[in-house]
Amino acid sequence: MDIVTAKSWLDGIAAANLTGLLLERAPDLSRRFASCDDRREFTYGGFWKLSGQQAQALLALGAKRGDRIAVQVEKSIEALALFWACARAGLIYLPLNPAYTAAEVSYFLKDAEPRIFVATPQRLAELAGPAKAAGAAMLSLDDAGGGSLCDAAALHDGVIAAAPCGWDDIAAILYTSGTTGRSKGAMLSHGNLASNALALASVWQFTRADRLLHALPVYHTHGLFTATNTVMFSGGALLFRRKFSAEDVLAVLPHATAMMGVPTFYSRLLQHGGLTREATAHIRVFICGSAPLLAEMHAAFERRTGHAILERYGMTETSMNTSNPYIGKRPAGSVGFALPHVEVKISDPASGQGLGPGIDGMIEVRGPNVFKGYWRNPEKTAEDMRPDGFFITGDLGRIDLDGTLVISGRAKDLVITGGFNVYPREVEELIDAMQGVRESAVIGLPHADFGEAVAAVIAMDGEQKLAEDAVIASLRQGLAAYKVPKRVFFVDDLPRNPMGKVQKAELRKHYSQTFQK
Ligand code: AMP
Repeated sequence: MDIVTAKSWLDGIAAANLTGLLLERAPDLSRRFASCDDRREFTYGGFWKLSGQQAQALLALGAKRGDRIAVQVEKSIEALALFWACARAGLIYLPLNPAYTAAEVSYFLKDAEPRIFVATPQRLAELAGPAKAAGAAMLSLDDAGGGSLCDAAALHDGVIAAAPCGWDDIAAILYTSGTTGRSKGAMLSHGNLASNALALASVWQFTRADRLLHALPVYHTHGLFTATNTVMFSGGALLFRRKFSAEDVLAVLPHATAMMGVPTFYSRLLQHGGLTREATAHIRVFICGSAPLLAEMHAAFERRTGHAILERYGMTETSMNTSNPYIGKRPAGSVGFALPHVEVKISDPASGQGLGPGIDGMIEVRGPNVFKGYWRNPEKTAEDMRPDGFFITGDLGRIDLDGTLVISGRAKDLVITGGFNVYPREVEELIDAMQGVRESAVIGLPHADFGEAVAAVIAMDGEQKLAEDAVIASLRQGLAAYKVPKRVFFVDDLPRNPMGKVQKAELRKHYSQTFQK
């Protein structure tokens, strides 16, 4: 069933929602859904019963249609089932990164006002204050099927009729990992998630025969929706790992047919001697996204394994937008073509005017995948959403003549030095191409004269060395003087968040005094 048919199918059945669509495509319920690293096995039927029981428990606690259920727990099958429990009961799932402190959690709870807050057993006492202040009842869930949520769920039989939600009803609120300002809650509808799952299952050719190695966190769109829903909408199975380690992944790969990961996963695998052609011979596809994949890493992975990593591009607000082809060339540095029913265009960041092929500008997207707006924030929604439905992503890029999208940086990542704009990505690409450089981050630092001064932070490969003067001299040959970093720093590793995004804010803070005399 394609997206258009799915929409009319859902519209045609008053009581259908994301779960209705899934069930229509579901395999025989006795088929395997997940094999977990703690040796637990789940069939589709077992998983469905689990989420039904959780749904009944949430409803018995007084949750009503449209209520938010905030969840800050470690990765587990129960955490995944809880999303489906909410979707089936007409509740809104709101996952939070377990790394958030009590102060951060307090902000999210105040903003979202959930009816119920599910936390890890160890943090119940610490988070009781913020939960009470937000008016949320608390439940606990650990990473092995224990906690008061599971106790409450065990009292029910799991048989529940899906709430009468439709295509536009909100299924989840995911807070953006925003690097500037407060993070905002992106409201994702049943239709947003269903359409993306259908598109990805089709373009990546997932079937019941697939076993996806799943080592991503499940509080983020990548692990929660992209990886899981693609598999569920094709009836395949998950090889479910609670944490990523190169050692573990290489041990499980022989049982998998596909893997999805962030660039950090692939760079760690490359550092492991066990990554060979033989170890990956039966894998159908390695998929990567959530942060830029260095061209050098793409090439190194292909040299070692014979697999060209399939890079795709998406974000919390839109799920996936583009993908390299399953069949055909997957050039490094390109994020491929728009997914079925998704439109991608490039506009002038200042005027919003459309730009032609090959010209860098703002990436805008429109389609059934684009979210319904920011939770209780119509101003920010109006700022980022054009009246004709295009969402202004904040990413910069160009569409080449062959129709592929190339990302060149983040609009907010721009460094403005002495009134000149510098796109860090342009400088980083030149540094990354230098002998011995593993990766780099170019940032703007406060400078009395220039407002911001360009600086570079470089991580080298192994023991190799490079001098600051040599980097600057080399860049002078290819770049306008204002783009050349005034200082270059060397570090062992660039700081990254769990999704592999370089934490430029951290770097800016660390080096903030460099030009302050
Ligand atoms: P998040 O909302 O946490 O998923 O972050 C989304 C952002 O990650 C996007 O707006 C991009 O800046 C970045 N991103 C995602 N996929 C890619 C990719 N394949 N290449 C470069 N950047 C990416």
